[in-house]
Amino acid sequence: PAIDAKPSLQKGIAAGSLRFKGGSLAISDLDMAYGDLDVLKGVSLNVNAGTVTCVIGPSGSGKSTLLKCLNRLVEPKAGDVLLDGESILTMKPEKLRRRVGMVFQHFNLFPDHTALENVMLALTKIKGMAKREAERVAEDRLADVGLAARMHHRPARLSGGQQQRVAIARALAMDPEVILFDEVTSALDPELVKGVLDLMADLGQRGMTMVIVTHEMGFARKVADQVVFMDEGRVVEVGTPTAIFDAPQSPRLKRFLAEVL
Ligand code: ADP
Ligand code: MG
Repeated sequence: PAIDAKPSLQKGIAAGSLRFKGGSLAISDLDMAYGDLDVLKGVSLNVNAGTVTCVIGPSGSGKSTLLKCLNRLVEPKAGDVLLDGESILTMKPEKLRRRVGMVFQHFNLFPDHTALENVMLALTKIKGMAKREAERVAEDRLADVGLAARMHHRPARLSGGQQQRVAIARALAMDPEVILFDEVTSALDPELVKGVLDLMADLGQRGMTMVIVTHEMGFARKVADQVVFMDEGRVVEVGTPTAIFDAPQSPRLKRFLAEVL
């Protein structure tokens, strides 16, 4: 949760003193299947509080499914996930999703609502917050992501990068302990990617625990505390960016890096 949420950071998050107290995740032996298709096969991974984990791997390797298990958009078949030591499988999904936020490739904003209303709706509907307070929090979070001047715009009047910032503000507004990002820059025009990546790097600096599925290898190298390489439903390799990118061990990771770098 935000522990020093200044009411009015008008200059965007880089200028503020916002700090987060991220939570930890302990994923053990996670299995997940869609019908007969085994998609996660014994995934184990630790994510320390306040760290950034980047997940890389070929298409279809189970990256999105892993993220979805972490806030129970899908239910694992076996295994467990502890959030700050507490199993997420026994939590109410709605409560879990307040603690573990998610941002998607397609921002999923309501087109008929302004940026402010989009963030407010999450607060009033999911958190049950009174409208006036929701408005104050939504204004603060939008200011944090650098959108103070644009909060009364509808999504269509915002760039893709700005829309993704609204989605990030909406996730932050829930005061989560962990935020999951699934290829959040993949649908953006190239010139808009950097701003969103910089914002994510900044959130990491401020102590948010983040699990980020990304194709941006430069970002992963620079920002990640650990990089996870997945293939065919398994974690094949985990390590520091230097270990993963400069000294890959497995043939599959070497092949993958040869293709993407
Ligand atoms: P990634 O994000 O690494 O590309 P996914 O987790 O999306 O991988 O998918 C892993 C595997 O599960 C793929 O084979 C994909 O086709 C399959 N899959 C993903 N979502 C579904 C679904 N809703 N129903 C059936 N199969 C799915
Ligand atoms: Mg995916």
